[in-house]
Amino acid sequence: MTPLFARRKLASIAAIIFALGSLTVLIFALSNVTRFMQTVGVKRVETPVKVVALTYDDGPNPLATEALLQVLQQHHVKATFFVVGRQVMRYPQIVQREIAAGHEMGNHTFTHRDLLFKQTYFLWDQLGETDLVLRRLGATGALHVRPPRGRGFLGLVTLARLMHKQIVMWDVDPADYRKERSPQQIADHILREVRPGSIVLLHDGGGDRSRTVAASAIVIPQLKAQGYQFLTISELLNMNSG
Ligand SMILES: [Zn+2]
Repeated sequence: MTPLFARRKLASIAAIIFALGSLTVLIFALSNVTRFMQTVGVKRVETPVKVVALTYDDGPNPLATEALLQVLQQHHVKATFFVVGRQVMRYPQIVQREIAAGHEMGNHTFTHRDLLFKQTYFLWDQLGETDLVLRRLGATGALHVRPPRGRGFLGLVTLARLMHKQIVMWDVDPADYRKERSPQQIADHILREVRPGSIVLLHDGGGDRSRTVAASAIVIPQLKAQGYQFLTISELLNMNSG
């Protein structure tokens, strides 16, 4: 091997190592960006008191939401619904029932689009339009925001602050959206992971959510038996501020 050839070989190995290193850094940075909301949003409230907030995303949805409202009413539990504006337009009566029953309404955007790296006007449309349809139906309060897929970046943080909304994430995700999960498995996951101040992520829309309804019926009495009280997101956030 000539010295020149050896040097070239060395240079190409160095280039490969450099490229792989850059790629690793890039992947790491990107995966952190997609998880950015987990670091800036509220995932759980720090409290020793046995309180928990059940949150339901992607509704309203005629089958699941109606059935869920019955379960919640039966157990005198208040929950928070992060609704999709377009769905609210489609099923306003369901939202009116949610509001009348004392549940809290939250904003899950108008069309359930990913908010990561979107322009401010896009974010404003998505949140503003949803607020508007909810207010028209009589929703009060801050209408806190949960970004679809839990994703967003600095623009969303700024806008949420301007709109006096909290970005609400979760610390308990029983993956009720996975079809292979039975109601009992969803319930077991919640019972295993809930701590005082927890926020539980569930879904009453975006597909067949009968398993979520069944899981809620299992988990509510069991958490109650453990001494848990169910709060809406605003009630939970208020505990934090004393
Ligand atoms: Zn969603």
